[in-house]
Amino acid sequence: MKLIIIQCFCFLFFYAQGQITKPEVTEVWEPEPRVVSVDTKTGIPSDAIILFDGTDLSHWQNKNGKEEAKWKIEGDHMTVVAGTGDIKTKEVFGSCQLHIEWRTPKEVIGESQGRGNSGVFFQEKYEVQILDNYENRTYSNGQAGSIYKQHLPLVNACQPPGVWQSYDIIFQEPIFNEDGHKVASGYITVLHNGVVIQNHAELYGTTEYIGLPKNIKHEDGSIMLQDHGNPVSYRNIWLREM
Ligand code: MG
Repeated sequence: MKLIIIQCFCFLFFYAQGQITKPEVTEVWEPEPRVVSVDTKTGIPSDAIILFDGTDLSHWQNKNGKEEAKWKIEGDHMTVVAGTGDIKTKEVFGSCQLHIEWRTPKEVIGESQGRGNSGVFFQEKYEVQILDNYENRTYSNGQAGSIYKQHLPLVNACQPPGVWQSYDIIFQEPIFNEDGHKVASGYITVLHNGVVIQNHAELYGTTEYIGLPKNIKHEDGSIMLQDHGNPVSYRNIWLREM
């Protein structure tokens, strides 16, 4: 940071003087970004934490933090077992990049919020909605890809029920000071099946089902997946800390 400030100062000084004559003056060499390679088969970056690869639920536990995750594993994916509760990662995270693939049931049952409902929560507080919104109308700020009750998705990029879909999400956590006041908002960017549906959307606080967002100081938290009573499936979940 100190180096960048000095370089900015030099840049402004020379700019003001109109005396920049050498290209090196505006070059930045330190620090050098570290190398991250991507597995060409899986698309997973070398520094990713793999949270679920179809093998087991060892990274997950029940929302209450006391019991095992009880969702069902079949083949390369896991599926919500209605009534067993939300599941969350044992590890906690701050700002991160998350890749997650999800599938709503092929057999269409219910409508609006009752059809293929689940959700991915950051720090257990901020939900990006998962819902079957293929030809299924619901309130716009509660449809798939919404930041629940805060930001509707820019477009509806849903695939039909029974088709695997992906979210690539960049989560920037909110910052609180020692007195507990929020001094910087969190932000969320979402690509749904490769389509930008949330572009650096500001988090107004927690995503509440009833009532307004809350801003109570908190630490890092788990990634949480919602049991909303519908058998939504998940596979290939990985995360990069930022
Ligand atoms: Mg939900």
